[in-house]
Amino acid sequence: MKLISACLLGIRFTWSGDDKYKNDRAIELSKVETLIPVCPEQLGGLATPRVPQEIQGGTGEDVLDGKCKILNKNRENVTKEFIRGAEETLKTVRQLNIKEFIGKSKSPSCGYGQIYDGTFSGRLIKGDGVTTALLRRNSIEITPEEDL
Ligand code: SF4
Repeated sequence: MKLISACLLGIRFTWSGDDKYKNDRAIELSKVETLIPVCPEQLGGLATPRVPQEIQGGTGEDVLDGKCKILNKNRENVTKEFIRGAEETLKTVRQLNIKEFIGKSKSPSCGYGQIYDGTFSGRLIKGDGVTTALLRRNSIEITPEEDL
């Protein structure tokens, strides 16, 4: 059993109310493995669609350590919702004894290795999203969507 960013399975949970279904790989995997879809941003209480959000001046690790915040494009602080979503996702992982998370790349929640830099300009920096960072801290293996 694996956890997966819900938008990769074609569920329309992204900020724009769209999905991130690019190819059949996640669906094909779901035929041979049990995949549990989660959307940390919705678990944190954010609506869909929603205003785009980015981590400001840091990474998911920094957010967990209280060193930086997450703002949406309207400059509203959504840090609390992101942390709540990460914690709820971790709770799911523990309840179901899941060991692996397949994450949507570049997301401020689900991204692994690269995330947007907080300027809403499409620039990327090294780092993980908040949920990915919390799962890694708890020894969950992360598989980026590119490796499916
Ligand atoms: Fe997809 Fe994760 Fe963003 Fe939800 S929080 S829309 S699952 S990338």
